[in-house]
Amino acid sequence: MDGIHIHPHDILDEGSATILSHLNQIKGIRYIFPQVNTIFERNPYPVGKLTHNPVHEVVMGNGTLHANIKVSSKLYQREPTFEEKQDPLALFKLATNDTDYEVIPWVNIFNGDFLGNVEENAVINVAGEKVDDWLCPNGPNVLEMWTEVFTLLIKKYDYHTFMIDRIRFPDWAGKTVEPSRMFSCFCPHCLEKMAQTGINNAALIEEIHRITEAIQRKAYSQALQMFHNSAQIKQWVTFRQQSVSQFVKNLIANVQVFEPKARFWLDLWPPSYAWFLGQDYTELTKYASKLKHFPYHKLGGGADVQGLIDVISSNDIEADKAFQAFLQFFDIKQKITYQQFKETGYTIDFVYQENAKVREISQPGTKIYSGIQMWNIDNENLLEAVKAARQSPADALLYYCYGWAELDHFQAIAKQYSK
Ligand SMILES: [Zn+2]
Repeated sequence: MDGIHIHPHDILDEGSATILSHLNQIKGIRYIFPQVNTIFERNPYPVGKLTHNPVHEVVMGNGTLHANIKVSSKLYQREPTFEEKQDPLALFKLATNDTDYEVIPWVNIFNGDFLGNVEENAVINVAGEKVDDWLCPNGPNVLEMWTEVFTLLIKKYDYHTFMIDRIRFPDWAGKTVEPSRMFSCFCPHCLEKMAQTGINNAALIEEIHRITEAIQRKAYSQALQMFHNSAQIKQWVTFRQQSVSQFVKNLIANVQVFEPKARFWLDLWPPSYAWFLGQDYTELTKYASKLKHFPYHKLGGGADVQGLIDVISSNDIEADKAFQAFLQFFDIKQKITYQQFKETGYTIDFVYQENAKVREISQPGTKIYSGIQMWNIDNENLLEAVKAARQSPADALLYYCYGWAELDHFQAIAKQYSK
């Protein structure tokens, strides 16, 4: 049984009945994931139009919380402006109550527009600068805020299963491409905890500076070797993974104290990248038995590969060298040039390879949902990705996403299910 993501503006602009009439065409869809809080993202990303939205051609996500709850924590998320302030979750619940769909609200944890005690809880990069719109898993109020939010969501909407997304440290992409954001977090709470776990913070910072300096010299292979051979970096990668795993473990335990039936799905990066962003599949799947990841081969597996390569290189030869080092760094087995990547993305075997990695490093019995890119793609490539995911070690598919897809994508998918 497969699933699909929807956004608040889909519900508010199109109406739940219209959404369901499109989804009803696809017999194999059982789970719908309405987004509770947005991220800073153009809908659709990065280009294109919302072709079946009667109100907006494009919607900018602003990191706001679209739920009718009153959070009293010292840290909280901004609410939408008055005009947008309706209750999409309540509207969608009303429309789906008597259907066979299982609705799983989808919540972005560390990334959004937060207010209140933000300074104390923000991610800080290696240069000591605040990374905008990101919370640190080791921040003092983050766990308390999310525990309260989930408790209130359960009380208000009576949902017991949630998908948690953005459970990681920042990557290099965002409103702009900033490689420095990758090297975090150096907030006072992380610095103290790192020191306690035996990390020499000064030596680690020094090592990161040496690596970034090598990247600036375009010595990409050297930077890669330095990263993989450094004891300090190894400890730091582990520390980041432990910080995220511990947060997820504590969050689930806290929410289950309030509601023992509460369950969580994980929305993770494809495994080739995930380890670097603080996501340890083996550990995380001890606390949640269902996960989605997004091996969108046309889009470099969801990473802004082109954004990074273009920032760290200054001509075609350097760009190809940087791209090959990138593939090697993340152990992505693609025999393509940067030019080929820019034209057509990764080859389709990326889907199988990433799902095989997920299966290998997740706890036995984990249900794996392979993310399917359902926008900025033609039907032929869409169906090719569906086929590759079905033939991989994943259990089912999760489409991203309803609002960004063109209507003929639904028809193509529906046909494929009826075969
Ligand atoms: Zn921190």
